[in-house]
Amino acid sequence: MSIHEECGVFGIFGTHKDDMAGLCYYGLFSLQHRGQEACGMVVNDDGVFTVHKDLGLVGEVFSDDVLAGLPQGNAAIAHVRYGTTGSNCKENAQPMTVNHLNGRLAVAHNGNLTNTLSLRKNLEQDGAIFHTTSDTEVICTCITRQRLKCSSIEEAVSRACASLEGAYSLVIMTSTKMIAVRDPLGLRPLVFGVREDGSYVAASETCALEAVHAKGIRDVGPGEMIVFSVNESGKAIYESKKIICEKQPQRTCVFEYIYFSRPDSVIDGVSVHQSRITAGEILAQTYPADADIVIGVPDSGLDAAIGYAKRSHIPYETGLIKNKYTGRSFIAPNQQLRSDTVRLKLSPIKSVVSGQRIVLIDDSIVRGTTSRRIVELLREAGAKEIHVRISSPPFRHPCFYGVDIDSEEYLIATHHSIEEIAKMIGADSLAFLPLHALEKMTCGRGYCCACFDGDYPVPIPKDMRKDRFEGNIQEGV
Ligand code: AMP
Repeated sequence: MSIHEECGVFGIFGTHKDDMAGLCYYGLFSLQHRGQEACGMVVNDDGVFTVHKDLGLVGEVFSDDVLAGLPQGNAAIAHVRYGTTGSNCKENAQPMTVNHLNGRLAVAHNGNLTNTLSLRKNLEQDGAIFHTTSDTEVICTCITRQRLKCSSIEEAVSRACASLEGAYSLVIMTSTKMIAVRDPLGLRPLVFGVREDGSYVAASETCALEAVHAKGIRDVGPGEMIVFSVNESGKAIYESKKIICEKQPQRTCVFEYIYFSRPDSVIDGVSVHQSRITAGEILAQTYPADADIVIGVPDSGLDAAIGYAKRSHIPYETGLIKNKYTGRSFIAPNQQLRSDTVRLKLSPIKSVVSGQRIVLIDDSIVRGTTSRRIVELLREAGAKEIHVRISSPPFRHPCFYGVDIDSEEYLIATHHSIEEIAKMIGADSLAFLPLHALEKMTCGRGYCCACFDGDYPVPIPKDMRKDRFEGNIQEGV
């Protein structure tokens, strides 16, 4: 069962025919950091849907030929997917499409439901047949079933959402409308904006709005549904509606600020870049170090390193260079390969680090592989002392809402004290961001940090835990 993935969604809705595929391409390209496994788009040309999706990066899947073969349209939605163990199959690529008695539907989803297994079981007992192992297909089925019973797609989405638990930021397209909807806790981000020609854009991050010259309007609120349609005078309009849910305090995933989102994005009014700088400043204040230079691990450790340097008055240096052409070390299939990939991905600048006492900033330690390798590389390059500072608290709990944080079994901080971890990674000292600093980082917006404190805002069913970490359902079965 594919139940852990971090993804990016994008949608554009206009009134006249345009190169929607090209615009989606730009949108997806700017969201590529949210998923590198698969991508896809669905173009709506007056109610005719054309789908193209495949495994691979945006630039690989959407070659010039493929883009040229897609029709012009008045709307389109698109998706980049980051799946992990066992879920690497084309069938799980999105957007997903459904043809039903009353029309058609395309859905792009970011996040993970926590009640997929029970929803799916109930639907299957009721005759539904699933073609994929993705929770997005479950969402499609819930919406379609409701759509057959009620008079509008917005009502169907609202009713379907009442049965969903967990994290979902969705962009949904029908023949005549587009809907952007965010779960009641606002776990994953979702924004919308407008282009000069009056077309509307919805996306996981503001960086995708910028990519298509859309002016941001605002974030979709937790439990809110934005319905885009065409009015009687032929103008594209949007309307805000509430989905059926209990009002709850916002709990946006704090890891979006720490690692996932691009630093030039703004989530719920907070700049991701600034929040990382703040984390670095707090680290410098709380855990100072006697050192000559501060260096960051590219890319997500760089902003916090700038913040640390600013506050500590220790010079910021570029000490590590990232090879832009390697994949993510995190998803390499085994420990040996993961270690080797770190070496391929990052290399130290000897003239900068040799003989220096270094503060090394990274955004997180999960299994400990990356930090151990980097400390080793820096020592080989002649570093005298290495003081590791991490711009997030220790990871002690798995995430079930869409971030690939491993089972407790592999989380180094679940089993070892900070002193022990320092020894294991070979650092002279080690410190993590204090938990309370997350509030400052997110400027008081409500956030979920269950991976750090174990306080899950949506209860995690036992069978989900089992399914995710013991793999009792085989991919493709
Ligand atoms: P590890 O090597 O297992 O300690 O993982 C920590 C490194 O992986 C850090 O450098 C992070 O930037 C990166 N990282 C943390 N969480 C994730 C994630 N969910 N997916 C991919 N990379 C991650």
